[in-house]
Amino acid sequence: MKGICILGATGSIGVSTLDVVARHPHLYKAIVLTANKNIELLYEQCLVHHPEYVVVVDEAKAAAFSEQLINSPIADIKVLSGTQSLEFVATLDSVDSVMAAIVGAAGLLPSLAAAKAGKIILLANKEALVMSGDIFMQAVSESGAQLLPIDSEHNAIFQCMPAGYKSGMHAKQARRILLTASGGPFREMPIEQLVNVTPAQAVAHPNWDMGKKISVDSATMMNKGLEMIEACILFAMTPDQIQVVIHPQSIIHSMVDYVDGTVLAQMGNPDMRVPIAYSMAWPDRFESGVEPLNIFDVARMDFSEANLERFPCLRLAYEAIHKGGIMPTVLNAANEIAVDAFLNEHIRFTDIPVIIERCMEKFTVIPARTLAIILETDAQARVISKQIIADINR
Ligand code: NAD
Ligand code: MG
Repeated sequence: MKGICILGATGSIGVSTLDVVARHPHLYKAIVLTANKNIELLYEQCLVHHPEYVVVVDEAKAAAFSEQLINSPIADIKVLSGTQSLEFVATLDSVDSVMAAIVGAAGLLPSLAAAKAGKIILLANKEALVMSGDIFMQAVSESGAQLLPIDSEHNAIFQCMPAGYKSGMHAKQARRILLTASGGPFREMPIEQLVNVTPAQAVAHPNWDMGKKISVDSATMMNKGLEMIEACILFAMTPDQIQVVIHPQSIIHSMVDYVDGTVLAQMGNPDMRVPIAYSMAWPDRFESGVEPLNIFDVARMDFSEANLERFPCLRLAYEAIHKGGIMPTVLNAANEIAVDAFLNEHIRFTDIPVIIERCMEKFTVIPARTLAIILETDAQARVISKQIIADINR
């Protein structure tokens, strides 16, 4: 029996994880559930899973949640609040695995805490890895933690790696990774119309049902940019070894090209419970609740190169990883601020890459040697991005 801590239980990945947990009550127990603000859903999840701890980051919501537990059948659940409590619960002795599914930089410190504590880390929170690459991987190797990627592409690549492969190893027989991308909702929209795209259009992804931030990232293809950086870190590859491939059907979730000419692909219906169940059962497999793939329904699969003029965010991600050091942290922070501004209708869709590029121009590259440097850079890039947004709107 494994105890799991789900950071970001109320999000899209969190909900899918609890669905898989419920299918395997003899193998998994949810020890901790965390949420930022959504205490209504958290309460429902607690009635079903009865964890030992919950963290509600927002203090007022945490107080309201404690109130709600009084005289309920789940009154014994311990309720914590504040960001530091996330690090505390991610390192509890009764926790074997940590699902890192908080969105954005907010997930960095608890994910890193789990890595330092030697937990099995199921990593969905790609932004944490993009920000802290070397430091994160070093924490994993020093503590003997096990890092299993949840991002469907990285999970696919991991599954296509040689037997005994562990995250961070360089598989020398693998010469290239083919990182697939759906191309998002605007793959074929005339480029001059992108300026008028609304948040509602941007979050309506054709193949995947996800949180708002990653849905916008998919529409700009910054998601693929972050994933390219994530793949360089997880699989110890150079950016030139990662080829982005537009595959609109989202049936192949990525491929590994070997020196002998073999290309291994992982396929399946686009449902995050596949990579989640794979990582939870690893090195075994168990049921995820996902329908078997009907290959006759798929019938055809298309592949094409990404157009960097249509998707400047992808070009900026390549620039950031080539520059190295703190630049991926700057890219990520500027993107988070720009996406938030777009979702709140303060900027246009096409302003997103403009803000990121201008923000990156304000920084000179220094090595991302310490966590303090990374956090300081993240904070500065957020301030600068907000100034750029204010200038755009002036
Ligand atoms: P979501 O917006 O649906 O959920 C985010 C979760 O994080 C929620 O539980 C929320 O309460 C919590 N959260 C938000 N801000 C927080 C903060 N400041 N402090 C603490 N908790 C906070 O997001 P999602 O789609 O589930 O994505 C989660 C992560 O997984 C992201 O990093 C995303 O890139 C990655 N991911 C998601 C998918 C997917 O299919 N949804 C696929 C691959 C990777
Ligand atoms: Mg992905």
